[in-house]
Amino acid sequence: MSKKLALYIFAGLILGAIVGLIFPSFGVAIQPIGKIFLNLIEMVVIPLVFSTLVVGASGIADLKRMGRIGLKTIIWFEVITTIILVIGLLLANLFHPGTGVQLQHAHVGDYSAAKGQKIDIVSMLVNIPPSNVFQALSSDSMLSIVFFATMLGLAVATVAGDAGKSVIRFFEGISQATFTLIRWVMHTAPIGVFALSAYAAGKYGVQVFLPLAKVIGVTYLGLAIVIFVLFPLVCRFILHVPFFKVFWGIMDLFLIAFSTTSSEAVMPQLISFAEEIGVPKAISSFVIPLGLSWNDDGTSLYLSVAAMFVAQMGGLHLSIGQEVTMILMLILTSKGMAGVPMAGFVVLLTTATAVGLPLQGVALLAAIDRVLDMARTAVNVIGHPVAAIAVAKWEKEFDERKLRAYFERRRGAEPSASGTSVS
Ligand code: ASP
Repeated sequence: MSKKLALYIFAGLILGAIVGLIFPSFGVAIQPIGKIFLNLIEMVVIPLVFSTLVVGASGIADLKRMGRIGLKTIIWFEVITTIILVIGLLLANLFHPGTGVQLQHAHVGDYSAAKGQKIDIVSMLVNIPPSNVFQALSSDSMLSIVFFATMLGLAVATVAGDAGKSVIRFFEGISQATFTLIRWVMHTAPIGVFALSAYAAGKYGVQVFLPLAKVIGVTYLGLAIVIFVLFPLVCRFILHVPFFKVFWGIMDLFLIAFSTTSSEAVMPQLISFAEEIGVPKAISSFVIPLGLSWNDDGTSLYLSVAAMFVAQMGGLHLSIGQEVTMILMLILTSKGMAGVPMAGFVVLLTTATAVGLPLQGVALLAAIDRVLDMARTAVNVIGHPVAAIAVAKWEKEFDERKLRAYFERRRGAEPSASGTSVS
């Protein structure tokens, strides 16, 4: 999302709020415009998830080729992102950013697991493989869709020659096209958000916007915990490298990511930085590109806070079991993400649809996504070299001498090979 569009969407939020407060009945009357916007974003979800997963899973064949390193990489990614998802969940439970104003009366029925019934893990598992793929697609059964798309992707990867490649290319095309669709739809967001905001203000008053300020605060707090507590602890006690020195070495990339909201933009520099501090090329050029879609630490934190926020805004009180289901869903849906602006928001959208959370809260988050995206992208960028160091150490291939030499050079304030400033 360009800065200009982000600004327009934010303006839509503010103007909508003002109009809704001054003319509440007009605000309520334009709700259908907001609904059209919600439908437009929902429209893209299933083709997007399906095609991205097929393509993502077909690439897992590369992982197999990488063998042991691939496995260690995935284990590291999963453990660290799951810890971060849980931190987000705890913070959202502690601070309740979305509680207080209920955007709509709880459609408890929407959220199947909230119907009062206990989560039955057995029947949940039994129903994951869909007996009818088309039925799963038409009924938004996201777990079944994820399952089938993943299996299909794995199977396609085994199809030799042109036949397999053309299927993958087809889904790549669909995936790119759906991303374009999302971008187009986002151009209608200023109007959609204006209408939703006017409706919310007209119906519930100004206090409806307090949660947005709270969700920004809670997300930034969570990201600060990741940078100032989690990473330093992991680096000190598990990896035995000085985290803040490493962090300082990529401060310029951190700031670029913060201002562009695209971690892809700094990927090449991240790879050469990791090499410069002692990660072998084979590991850095594998772990970092893969990490762009599998190891987004900042985005993971955002996702669990935001998903809880959306549930809270919808008036749903999730049990521990339901929150765990949501985390499992986030673990799945966040795979295949891209290091591009707003990718995390799209993942939130798919997850909210998957677990049946009301989408009004998601639409309001679109209005402030730029602010959240800046911080989560910057944290994503720090997570990549940390992961590369972890895998290299685990493989006993980390070159401590290079790390020491790097610090020496920095002390002497020589420019680094990655182009990162060393002041
Ligand atoms: N913008 C983020 C990145 O580039 C992804 C996201 O939207 O969370 O890493």
